[in-house]
Amino acid sequence: MNFFPPFPQDNARIGLLGVAFDENSSYLRGPAQAPGKIRSAFFSDSSNLWTENETNLGADGIFADAGDISPSQACMPAETEEAASRLHAAGLKVFAFGGDHSVTTALVKAAAQFHPELTILHFDAHPDLYDNFAGNPHSHASPFARIMEAGLAKRLVQVGIRTMNGHMRQQARRFGVEVLDMGHWREVFAMQFSSPLYLSFDMDCLDPAFAPGISHREPGGLSTREALSIIQSLKANIVAADLVEYNPAQDQPGFTDMVAAKIFKEITARMLAIK
Ligand code: MN
Ligand code: MN
Repeated sequence: MNFFPPFPQDNARIGLLGVAFDENSSYLRGPAQAPGKIRSAFFSDSSNLWTENETNLGADGIFADAGDISPSQACMPAETEEAASRLHAAGLKVFAFGGDHSVTTALVKAAAQFHPELTILHFDAHPDLYDNFAGNPHSHASPFARIMEAGLAKRLVQVGIRTMNGHMRQQARRFGVEVLDMGHWREVFAMQFSSPLYLSFDMDCLDPAFAPGISHREPGGLSTREALSIIQSLKANIVAADLVEYNPAQDQPGFTDMVAAKIFKEITARMLAIK
């Protein structure tokens, strides 16, 4: 489903990719339905297309939309990486949305080919560092283990974490992950992020009171405003980003989809603000 000008598009700056995939979810399915819902919410007449820094996302020359992919479980890594690589190769920044968090491994792989020395800023309730989860090394609970062991990022910073356990703490030490749990999330404001930056936004970093349409409702998270403040404070060149784990099957229409669209708008505004 294409709501934006289709790729290829002259002078566009951000390539969009919907990822309709949730087969690596460990608990509930649903994030495969996210891309269409987020597109609709983005254009909902209940809001407008301007961001808080007064960027008009409805203007020409911003987005080129590659549409949605809905790969099988076996084909997801290759198909997702290829679709994202096509956008990077056209000189675009890449914003991917929808899907469970397992898609991030393929998206980071694509970004790392074009931008070596990536730093990743990862918003999540969960560290997603399991060596494997329930026998699945490609589980949505494992992408950052796969990314770090493949050396796809030189630095990984996690914010919003509130489900750390012994195994994942070991993994975090092994990979040198900088974990800001909910007792320390404000320390992110003092961090310098060297370019280029990959931003991965798991919707469950937010408190479920703000965004109930997710698969794992973990209380005690960031408010929507706190997450937006972090995004808006970033002084880094964000070359690629994803917005994952929105689960429409767990949502009330017009609730978490609007939050996802808001986060979408503010992340892309930040991508446009700094080259
Ligand atoms: Mn996650
Ligand atoms: Mn999560």
